[in-house]
Amino acid sequence: MANSKYAYVRDFELPDPLLPGVFMVLRIDGHSFHRFSEKHNFAKPNDVRALQLMDHAAQDLMEEYPDIVLAFGESDEFSFLLRKSTSLYNRRQSKIVSTLTSLFTSSYVFHWSLYFPDTPLVYPPSFDGRIVLYPRTKEVKDYFAWRQADTHINNLYNTTFWALVQQGGQTTTEAHSTLRGTFAKDKHEILFSRFGINYNQLDARFRKGSVLVREDLEEEKEGEVTKEAMTDEGHDEQPNIKLLNHGVIIARSLKLDWKKENTR
Ligand code: ATP
Ligand code: ATP
Ligand code: MG
Ligand code: MG
Ligand code: MG
Ligand code: MG
Repeated sequence: MANSKYAYVRDFELPDPLLPGVFMVLRIDGHSFHRFSEKHNFAKPNDVRALQLMDHAAQDLMEEYPDIVLAFGESDEFSFLLRKSTSLYNRRQSKIVSTLTSLFTSSYVFHWSLYFPDTPLVYPPSFDGRIVLYPRTKEVKDYFAWRQADTHINNLYNTTFWALVQQGGQTTTEAHSTLRGTFAKDKHEILFSRFGINYNQLDARFRKGSVLVREDLEEEKEGEVTKEAMTDEGHDEQPNIKLLNHGVIIARSLKLDWKKENTR
């Protein structure tokens, strides 16, 4: 073959298989979304259109990849849990990370104008992606609890910060210094006494993030329909992804999901 003297370069491509029999969590995060959100006039602290667009991209990813059983999103990030037994792309790490991150990104761009009809994209957004392996359900539950705790901490801070700026007339520098050293109860107090905001009554999406779960079709009547629905062919006719009420307690949703075949 004419190119055989070059073919050795292929040997420099090293295999990157992920350990079998463990959970994969893929986390995708917007690159420099602090800047992206400013350039596209996101409402602060929470632009609901941007969160809905993230949910849409996440749902597209779950429809394309039946091995994703659960997803959790907040801000510019989404985490996806893949079943332990997945043989997606022979568990090649870079293939999985790059292909899924790429689909998420293109879906985000593809659906942008649905959520931002009056805001043209001024430059193409990008996302980073990484996979972390977790051997046991304990770590997986703690992982999602960690992300949800992050949602809560950031949202409480950001909500108080923007109330001080938007309603309290402080500069961003002043608002940061007002909040320095405060505890959660102090922030609740500032929100309530100075701005009449009851934090616990804010949209649960903002406080607790979004959860997408693949419903357990095995609980539905015929086993065969179920089996088909979990394959590539079946899932189009029978979408089996559900956007749960925002604010569902992650640990509980995991527990429900846990006994099911699809996480093994
Ligand atoms: P990096 O590239 O390191 O991830 P980043 O600027 O994206 O940098 P993050 O820690 O990921 O930093 O934070 C994302 C930022 O994007 C938030 O701090 C917030 O300013 C903005 N953002 C993301 N989603 C929203 C939203 N729905 N509404 C308002 N602002 C948002
Ligand atoms: P994989 O996901 O494994 O990469 P693939 O279908 O993308 O699968 P490739 O080996 O990357 O396989 O080949 C890309 C294929 O896309 C080509 O074989 C060809 O059929 C098609 N293709 C790509 N670019 C063009 C083009 N400019 N014009 C016509 N066909 C194209
Ligand atoms: Mg990051
Ligand atoms: Mg980011
Ligand atoms: Mg982020
Ligand atoms: Mg190709």
